[in-house]
Amino acid sequence: MNNTNRGRLLVVSGPSGIGKGTVCKELLRRCSDLLLSISCTTRPMRPGDEEGVTYFFKTEEEFERMVQAGEFLEYAGMYGKRYGTPRAFVEKNLLEGRDVILEIETQGALQVIQRAKEDVTSVFLLPPSMRELHKRLVERSTETPEKARLRFESAYREIEYAEQYDFVIINDQLEETVEALRAILIASHYGAGRALDHMHALKEEQVL
Ligand code: 5GP
Repeated sequence: MNNTNRGRLLVVSGPSGIGKGTVCKELLRRCSDLLLSISCTTRPMRPGDEEGVTYFFKTEEEFERMVQAGEFLEYAGMYGKRYGTPRAFVEKNLLEGRDVILEIETQGALQVIQRAKEDVTSVFLLPPSMRELHKRLVERSTETPEKARLRFESAYREIEYAEQYDFVIINDQLEETVEALRAILIASHYGAGRALDHMHALKEEQVL
């Protein structure tokens, strides 16, 4: 039995190249009740992208209209492109008791951690070493060497945010990372604050 019926918002973040996508995909495969929040972005589609599956692709104007209308739970800019989490999907599912995962970069993650504190469990993924992160970024090579270098350099700043998260996992072995994340998600349902209604009900219960 869960402590309350409200769902949990699992925020997974970390520097570019850390493998957030792979980790989250595997977690989603193992947790059939967990839902992935699909973000909006102004970046162009890349091979493998699919509208409404990887992202909702928006023009600058559409994105700005959504910002003005307060439709994002968080949003951030990365290398001239914008990314945001649609608020309605997250709020509806949490209310209906479903867990939602956000796979987002650090600026946005910190906004969610501050704004939706009660509902959020945040996890930061760190690389085993900077050399390994560099290798993963270069090998992924979905971008030019110059862009990969920029992303690698910003990783040094991004990892400083790790201490603001609830949990940190060194993403060395995929299996271990995914299982740790699954354990964190399960445990996040059992925070003492979530059982207050039940504790009050117990006190009212007359047995003898
Ligand atoms: P990509 O363009 O490679 O798909 O994603 C670039 C970065 O944007 C990744 O670090 C990804 O986690 C992040 N990202 C994706 N969606 C969102 C979002 O809705 N909000 C924020 N803040 N970052 C996002």
